[in-house]
Amino acid sequence: MSISIDQEKCTACESCVEACPFGVIEIVDGTAVVGDGCNLCGACEEACAFEAITILHKTRTERGTEAYRGVWVVGEQRDGQVAGVSFELLGEGRKLAEKLNEDLCAVLLGNDMESAAQEMIRYGADRVYLMNHADLLHYHEDTYARSIADLVLEHRPSVLLLGATAIGRSLAPRLATMLETGLTADCTGLDIRAEDRALLQTRPAFGGNIMATIVCADRRPQMATVRPKVMKRATREEGRRGEIVPVDGIPAGHGGLIRVLQVVKDLDDRINLSEADVIVTGGRGLREAKNFDLLRELAELLNGAVGATRGAVDSGWIGYAHQVGQTGRTVCPKLYIACGVSGAVQHLVGMQSSDVIVAINKDPEAPIFRVADYGIVGDLFEIVPEIIDQIKRELGQ
Ligand code: FAD
Repeated sequence: MSISIDQEKCTACESCVEACPFGVIEIVDGTAVVGDGCNLCGACEEACAFEAITILHKTRTERGTEAYRGVWVVGEQRDGQVAGVSFELLGEGRKLAEKLNEDLCAVLLGNDMESAAQEMIRYGADRVYLMNHADLLHYHEDTYARSIADLVLEHRPSVLLLGATAIGRSLAPRLATMLETGLTADCTGLDIRAEDRALLQTRPAFGGNIMATIVCADRRPQMATVRPKVMKRATREEGRRGEIVPVDGIPAGHGGLIRVLQVVKDLDDRINLSEADVIVTGGRGLREAKNFDLLRELAELLNGAVGATRGAVDSGWIGYAHQVGQTGRTVCPKLYIACGVSGAVQHLVGMQSSDVIVAINKDPEAPIFRVADYGIVGDLFEIVPEIIDQIKRELGQ
């Protein structure tokens, strides 16, 4: 994007000078002049009664969809560490790129991220566009979105994938708006339609009761987000070679409308459901908040985390950060133990790809048994303490 001032129309009325939140416009020789620090927010364009100011949007409509090539993954990093979901997106992106016979690229923003960029190459990226800058150390939605949008407009990938994480969910809609394209959130399946090379984006719809496949017919790039652990991670290849393309600087006025004063780690990070190998989940069958202590004890013995159904969360027994399912986290642990969980479809979509599922429920007809590898019909208040005792005996405690 850029800004244009029509000197013929400008009357030097100074309304743009007053409207600019960054104080970067001044009147020079009878016309408005925009200095460094403009972030193209558009306040001056709105304020100008003479239509002398125009923010020029470069959008896909300037070119046909055919001009777009390549599959891009937006790499996500925290404290310099690339998030697992980025490697999962590279795994899925590689399959799409092979079907399209196009390159798989990643875009990575941060500070001192060269080794992280190399790692993305080992996980399948052919090229990594790397934007290194001290100001990019922490995620900043305004700056990140503008920087990635500019890159996308320059290189025109046909597919752009992001993680459906807190960062991805804030970045993806901003990008889609800037790029004037569509976005399908929380996809559980991605594929290429052979006849027109369109991206088929599948996700649950109508409360998880049907799977909808969505196509972004005539806008590019085709944008999709995918939750962590939904796709399989790419295979790491130690000696894999690729290209790192340094991208200079960040757009002028990178401070934008948002200033990050401090980064405070969320206490819920401790829960880390998405990364846990073992999850012990409680549902309404637990009857009250204090009974989650039983599950905490079992989870601790198994070095795992405690999950919950929305039923338990809505009852106020445990925090939302523990919720597994359509409106909570998607998890894929090696072992998932569901205690007093009925197995509603909205819960199942968040955990059914776990490697081994154990269900404990006193109702033999409970739907959770349909996805369980091992089902125990009985009272969880008898069965869980028994399991805890057995594990303790095994561990000699
Ligand atoms: P219940 O359905 O009440 O089941 C309790 C189970 O405990 C029963 O099967 C019962 O037999 C068993 N039980 C009772 N006592 C014992 C005992 N002593 N021992 C053993 N078993 C016992 N739900 C989610 O979990 N995650 C989501 O993200 C989610 N998102 C949703 C989004 C939408 C749009 C909607 C409409 C719903 C969503 N839900 C979600 C809610 C979902 O539909 C169910 O209502 C919820 O999962 C039920 O929680 P539950 O299994 O704990 O409770």
